[in-house]
Amino acid sequence: MNLILFGPPAAGKGTQAKRLMAERGLIQLSTGDMLRAACEEGSDLGRRVQAIMNAGQLVPDEVVIALIEARIGEHADAPGFIFDGFPRTVAQAEALDAMLAARGSRIDLVLLLEVDDDELIARMSKRAADEARADDTLEAFTRRLAAYREQTASLIPHYIAQGKLIRLDGMAGVESVGAAIDTAVGAAHA
Ligand code: ADP
Repeated sequence: MNLILFGPPAAGKGTQAKRLMAERGLIQLSTGDMLRAACEEGSDLGRRVQAIMNAGQLVPDEVVIALIEARIGEHADAPGFIFDGFPRTVAQAEALDAMLAARGSRIDLVLLLEVDDDELIARMSKRAADEARADDTLEAFTRRLAAYREQTASLIPHYIAQGKLIRLDGMAGVESVGAAIDTAVGAAHA
């Protein structure tokens, strides 16, 4: 079972990915987490992407595609993956489809967490207070929302056409969203 947690920044993808990982043993692959780790290590990659991330823009497709490809390769016997924050562009989605197909696998389900902009900004502000992420300023966040609307939301038709997209009410609480995800994952398994 491979699934994509999809939706705007601060919609709750990371929270739900961690729940699914704990409950189902799926491996969470978060490009945001990987890129932040690279920045913290101060690696060449981290130095290259830091300014782009702080500005709320997308890092180049080839960078994130290479990160995902390497991680998938490290977990050859995983029961499945949760993609969180990837893919964000059509090129990334096509690369992911090809990568999985090469392994005789595929995306089974795309869960779209729908959340209003006002609520996203409230969640981002709370996270800024708790975690002090460099890109959780109102200015950078507004750019991330714009990048989502302009570049990432165009993937929704890609996955509707594949019959894989399920819309969930991301405005509900963490537990309710988790229950809705469990229902969707259970139905996809059946
Ligand atoms: P959020 O879900 O809150 O938007 P992420 O942690 O997923 O945040 O991503 C943080 C930043 O990392 C993005 O704003 C972007 O600069 C970069 N990033 C993460 N994933 C990708 C991706 N798949 N493609 C391009 N850039 C990415």
